[in-house]
Amino acid sequence: MSLANKYRPTRFSEVLGQPHAVTFLSTVILRKAKPRNLLLFGSHASGKTTLARLYAKALNCSDVAPDGSPCNRCTFCTDVDYEDWEYDVPGTGGEDADIEAWLDGRYRKPTDWKTTVLFFDEAHEIKPKAADSLLKRVEEPLPGVAFVFATTEPRALKNTLRSRLMALEVRRLGATEAVKLLRHVAEREGIAYDIDGLALLASIKRGYPRDLLIGLDQLAGMGPITLQSVKSMFGLDQTERLIDLFLALADADEARQITILADWPEEVGIIVKWIQSFLTSVFYRDILGLDFVGDPITQSITVGRSEILGGFCRRLDVPSQRDLRPFWEPMLSFWDRPSSDHETELQLRLALFQDLVNRRLGEARSALQIGSYESKGESFGIAVPAPAIHPQTSSQSLVEANEKIGQPSNEPNSLDIEGVRAIVNRASALTQATGYVINAAFEISSYPGVKAPTTVARVQRFVRELEEQAAGRPSSLATITLLEAGQFGPVTARICAHLTQLDTPGAQSRVQEWFDAFWQADEGVHDFDRRLSDVKRGMKFHWAEVMGLCAGLGGDSFYPDVGARALMKNLRVQKTRWRQPVAIPYRVLTFTGLVGQDAIEKAASEGMGFLSAYDDRAWRHIKSEWEPKEWLDRNKEFALRRRQIEDLEIFGGDPVQLEEKRRQIRASWLEVKSRPRRWMPWWGLEVDS
Ligand SMILES: [Zn+2]
Repeated sequence: MSLANKYRPTRFSEVLGQPHAVTFLSTVILRKAKPRNLLLFGSHASGKTTLARLYAKALNCSDVAPDGSPCNRCTFCTDVDYEDWEYDVPGTGGEDADIEAWLDGRYRKPTDWKTTVLFFDEAHEIKPKAADSLLKRVEEPLPGVAFVFATTEPRALKNTLRSRLMALEVRRLGATEAVKLLRHVAEREGIAYDIDGLALLASIKRGYPRDLLIGLDQLAGMGPITLQSVKSMFGLDQTERLIDLFLALADADEARQITILADWPEEVGIIVKWIQSFLTSVFYRDILGLDFVGDPITQSITVGRSEILGGFCRRLDVPSQRDLRPFWEPMLSFWDRPSSDHETELQLRLALFQDLVNRRLGEARSALQIGSYESKGESFGIAVPAPAIHPQTSSQSLVEANEKIGQPSNEPNSLDIEGVRAIVNRASALTQATGYVINAAFEISSYPGVKAPTTVARVQRFVRELEEQAAGRPSSLATITLLEAGQFGPVTARICAHLTQLDTPGAQSRVQEWFDAFWQADEGVHDFDRRLSDVKRGMKFHWAEVMGLCAGLGGDSFYPDVGARALMKNLRVQKTRWRQPVAIPYRVLTFTGLVGQDAIEKAASEGMGFLSAYDDRAWRHIKSEWEPKEWLDRNKEFALRRRQIEDLEIFGGDPVQLEEKRRQIRASWLEVKSRPRRWMPWWGLEVDS
């Protein structure tokens, strides 16, 4: 028996890494609730069939365990033949007549068992007509019949059917859980291993339980599992040449590059694929610090990575790997266009790539130094739109007035519902457009007896100096400033900021020093507070601080603003953080830099508008951290659009015709919500609750 079958979970407690799905299913069982019709979605080999079978068994077991698991001893548990309930959609074509014939005899009130669980794997291949017939049965199910659909592509399933199912995502295992599983099985089976070998296997198999165990099976036949045995099994010896090549590229050592390439016994097309894959992996993982699922083999390269990055940093004279972003972008986009697989042409492209890395990266550096904070918005995110493009649409819902901080106002003001909306939307747009997050928060409060204009002037100065802290690099600052009536003195300012520099080593202490100096110069006049994030806290810090601003709306017990309390609850702002809004004679809300009016409009042009979970009232998604994924998809779409325009301009021609062609291309670009995405947006899957 294969390890994958032998260790298939037989109770809920053995299912690793799916707390959400397991809790839901065991609750249905324990409450003896009406069996639910399910949609299990997730990558292949993630364990959807296992969950479906556990569910079917537990629904019928006569002696369920306290956690809702089947007993695995009663008549049903020992006699069940799942295959009779499982319909093989791809194998039979998913035609209406076939499915109806199969259902005939199965779709009836069960007499022998309590619940018949009809399972359709690869459900996205069900034909539309068949989906319609199934829909009728799902809508008004016979008592004692439950449907389970499983798919890798939930969005390919017919909308009407999908929306009537309880959708449960089955996720791949995290690295720790994957190693835990491998270790458990290796120990039970007496397979010798070292932990590095298992860790590498876990990262190659990306945390899919069945693949993990199949890999373990293959390796166990070849003796003890070590780093070396895993490497040779999965062809990782290639990666050593790749590392050598990148070390030589980092040092601009042309002679060594030529030797390595000449000794590499692979076709140039394969070498190019390795290079592209490693460039991508380094960009997302090391430079942007994102948990990027790329090619598992290049992702698993650990040895040599920091030497390569260190080499590039030294040569290009930047303090940290994060600063390599502007240099890595041209290397990535060099391979952007689909290249020909003609051997000679690829050789030429490779030589041009070496030339780019060895000589022209330095030029990119001098171009960068000319850039200043004034040029904000011009290099937004990775993809810079071609200058010939004019704005087509903008995301109106996100564009609000951008006033100067603390501008005196005739009408007394305090944070209102529209203000909260602007804060949430712009904070979300920051990450969608740039991948950046709020990573610093400051508070400046006047002491008693201090005049309000003194504090406002102080805050203006503070934000100006913050801009100076960010200077030297374009587009590296965003601030949201909220002025409120102070608790002791007249005014408190709360500032949420993104400072790109903060993500580089040493910058934290530099910002702290500057801040402390600012504060000391003002002792006895203002009270100061600051909180700085680090790369790891990412969006957790971002939303905690942004919601801290929103908490200034209070609830309607304080302020007769209808709906304020409901909004605070929808945003899940803890009640203890709510503050009583008191009007002050100033403009209270200001956005600058990457969340300022210009930057937002610029990024929202070309139909590349932003999503807003707030405007869609998708409250549960506001803090669910989809923005970095959206940012990756945006970049892909952006690059595609830019290429379409570039390709057009290569042919040149009559300006009027050219403009007309441009117009046609722009008209064909997809609306914000219909752009392709590799993540599941809230409108893509209606989950009933
Ligand atoms: Zn049982």
